[in-house]
This record gives sequence, structure tokens and C-alpha cells, in this order.
Amino acid sequence: MISSYVVSLSNKSSLFLNGSRRLHLLNKNAYINGQWVSAGSKAVFPVINPADDKVITEVPDMEAADAKTAVDAASSAFKTWKNTTAKERSNILRKWFDVCAKNTDYLAQIITAESGKPLAESKGEIAYGNSFLEWFADTARHINGEVVPSPWPNKMIMLTRQPLGVVSVITPWNFPFAMITRKVGALMAAGCTCVIKPAEDTPLTALAAAQLAEEAGVPKGVINVVTSSRKNAPAIGKVLCEDPNVGCISFTGSTHVGKILYGMASKGIKRVSLELGGNAPFIVFPSADIEHAAEHAMLAKFRNNGQACVGANRFLIHKDVFEAFVQAFKKRIAKGCVLGPGTKEGVTCGPLINTEQSKKVAGLVEDAISKGAKALIGGKPALDIGSKFYESTILTDVKPEMKIYAEEIFGPVAVCHMFETEQEVVTIANSTRSGLGSYVFTKDLGQAFRMSRQLDFGMVAINDGILSAAEPAFGGIKESGIGREGSKHGVEEYTDIKYTLFSALDK
Ligand code: ADP
Repeated sequence: MISSYVVSLSNKSSLFLNGSRRLHLLNKNAYINGQWVSAGSKAVFPVINPADDKVITEVPDMEAADAKTAVDAASSAFKTWKNTTAKERSNILRKWFDVCAKNTDYLAQIITAESGKPLAESKGEIAYGNSFLEWFADTARHINGEVVPSPWPNKMIMLTRQPLGVVSVITPWNFPFAMITRKVGALMAAGCTCVIKPAEDTPLTALAAAQLAEEAGVPKGVINVVTSSRKNAPAIGKVLCEDPNVGCISFTGSTHVGKILYGMASKGIKRVSLELGGNAPFIVFPSADIEHAAEHAMLAKFRNNGQACVGANRFLIHKDVFEAFVQAFKKRIAKGCVLGPGTKEGVTCGPLINTEQSKKVAGLVEDAISKGAKALIGGKPALDIGSKFYESTILTDVKPEMKIYAEEIFGPVAVCHMFETEQEVVTIANSTRSGLGSYVFTKDLGQAFRMSRQLDFGMVAINDGILSAAEPAFGGIKESGIGREGSKHGVEEYTDIKYTLFSALDK
């Protein structure tokens, strides 16, 4: 397999894919305390390109002891980083932003190689992810305290924001750059340091981001990256949650793993920031502009090939506009969803990330069709393109007894249900333990406000299929998580309020 690659001997290597494409910013070592290092055990694991199942390179398969070394490095760096001025931290974050912007093409190639998403989407992710570095470079200088009117004449009350310390950052594969910048930009602005454990499917983007951070002048130990296979993730996770030097665990990923980490964090009463699974409803009312709704359905469902926690998971369409909506949606899918490797010009939908995910999506659709669901378009794996490609699909006639009815699909399958009344659709939308994103299409102003109030989700988009940006507060309620990312609140996640009382002012 590796014979079709030429990997240079230096750590910061370039890589030739099939003798043609060259990957800059490719690192084969992890990054601890400003050093590019192998695992203590010297073990490695392969990073696979999901478009062709080939090995891109191998990276260290680290263990608990390596994670401990990284936490110690971050803890030591915290002693000086927390004392830098807000302006210094802001300047460094701004430089990191500039360096990432300059390297957009190279970063995009790495994201596409290991995650499969089309190059245009990878570039979009860098613009989006980088906007957090820019935002937090600004926010760093506005982490203000308060002087509160005191109830006593001779005392003064001062509240200041203190950085929490070392943050363990555990990230998923679907936005391998943005999920790091959204957390690390905020925590660095607050004066914290971190250990990043990227997903096993996409460690190369994290290492490339760390390389660019180093180039931007981020001091050693402020950012550390520990890579590991899935097999070693629980042991590393235990250190990252339980080490006494860790002050906070910031995780984006599945609700299942989030609960495990939350449990471990509770032992040390650690702060947590959890962004977990969603089950987003996409509601279309009769007053909606149907063409606009169908256009935004494409964004809400097929961005990253359906592999997004805020991706629309349940299309709830009023019966009066059901047929018009599904036909408009189908037309757009037929024209706009072009499957293929992310490096190919014109491709809009890459492969699913791994075999497990491909099997899950195929299994959910098979189960639904065997029980009477209908595929209006798509409905099967696209094995002629590769082992992990799945056709962009619309399913109708889905019933509660089908697995796909309640599960988060995380793939390119749009399940369309019909509803009759506003009350009915609110009940259906809220009948889940998840509460991350939701989407509503209506031109009725009162209805728009009612939906904003009544939908039990952390985020409600009215007449839009995309809601993420650096400025708003991103996050969920119920089992979709705790805490907010982006906005001014994203920085507060990494601070504690310290109360200092100045007394005896009259003495
Ligand atoms: P997904 O289903 O999208 O892969 P996961 O929640 O399984 O999401 O994984 C998200 C991140 O959590 C990845 O970096 C993965 O390696 C990590 N992870 C999985 N299990 C554990 C664990 N027990 N402890 C720490 N990290 C874990």
C-alpha cells in the first residue's frame, strides 16, 4: 500500500500521493512541549484516506504515559502563559490566524486527504475555523472584571476572571481544524494552555495546525498534541480527565463518549465543556418560500456529506407543501450532489469517514426500506466509486418502528415526514433527548417567534440552513451538551470568577 507514496525522512515532510500530489504541513510525530516526538513505546498507527482506503502516513500511537508528559508540559507552560498580557495573547492568536490563512491551500489538502471532504469544503472549513482565531484574538482584550457596589461603607468588592489552567481538548474528525481553533483560540485568549487529543481518523490536521501555531510564535507547552489510535483513546482520556493538573475538559463528539468523560471529570470536580450529538429538526411551514427552503435543506443536510452534529436529521414538512418541497429537494440533489474523491474538480460529496460509519448509514437505510420506507432518490452505497461512498438519499414513509426514525444518521440521508399542525410538529421536534440545532422555514412572523420560544434546542435558525459562526454562542441543551463555544461566552468557559474583598478602607 505504502509503495505508491514517497514520504520524506524529515518530520515535517511532504508527501507525494500516487506520484503527483504533494502534501505540505504533513507531520509524522506528535507535538509535546515544543518538540516533535514519537510515542514512548515507539508504536504508530496508520492514517487512512477514506476516498481510496490508502495509508497517507503513520503517526505515534501514544499511551497514558505520553498524555501525562503532555499535561505536565502544559502545566509548566501555564505558569508563564497565564501572566502574559491580554495584548500579547491577542497578538499571538492574530499571528496564528495570519499564518493559517496564508497556508489555506496546504491545510485544505491535508483535511481532504484524511477526512474525505471536497477541497472547496476544506477551504471553507479553514475560513470558518480561522474566524475563531481572529475572533478570540479580539476577545482576549475584553475579558473584563467587575467592581460591584458594596453593601459595606468601608469595603470594596472586585470580581476578576482567572484562567482555569490546563484544558484537555478532545476533538472529532468531522471538522478537524475548526473544532480545534474554536476551543484552543478561546482557551488561549483566557490564559489557559492545552493538550489536544485529535480523532484517530484525522490527526494530521491537528499536527499541521500545531506546526503553524509554532510558526506564529505560540510558546512551547501552550499547545500540545497527543495522537493515538482508538484502542488507546480510553487510557489517554482517563489521564486527560483525571490528572490533577487538568482544570477543564473540552470535548466535541458523541453523547456516548461525552458521558464517559463527564463521569471521569466529576471525580476531580473538573469543569467541562461538552458539545455532543444532535437530532436537528428541519421544519417547513406552508407560508415558507419552498425553493429557498429546499436550497437551505441542501446546506443543512449535505454539508460534509451529512456528517455534522448540527446537520438536519429529521425533515418535518407540512402536508400542504410536502410534495412541492420533496420534489424541489430531489431536483437539487440530482443536480447538486456529485459523489467522488474530494480532490476531483466538481465533486460536492466525498466518502463517509470510515467503515463503521458507512456500515451504520447503509444499515439504517436497509432497515427502513425493508419495513416499507421509500427512497425517492439514492438509497444504496455507491460501491463503484469506493468502499465508503453512499448515494445522496431522500427517504419518505418512515415509521417509528424503523431505526432511522430516532437515530442520529450522520450521513447523506434526508428522512422526510409529514405533519398537519404547529402543535404536532413542536411535539415531534422536541421528542428527543438531544437539543442542539433546529431549523424552521416560515414567513409568518408570529410563528417564527413562537418557534424560537417553543423549540427545546440550544440553537434555532429561522429561514436558514447554516447557523455556525464565531460570533454567536454555539451549543446544546439536554444530552447535546454543556457550555457554549464562540461568542464572548466561549472564553468564559475557560475562566473562573475570583472574588477579592478589600476591607478596612477607613483604617
Ligand atoms: P465519533 O462517533 O464521531 O467518532 P466519538 O465520540 O467516538 O465520536 O469520538 C470523538 C473523540 O473522542 C475522538 O477524538 C475519539 O478518539 C475520542 N474518544 C473516544 N473514546 C474516548 C475515551 N474513552 N476517552 C477519551 N477520548 C475518547
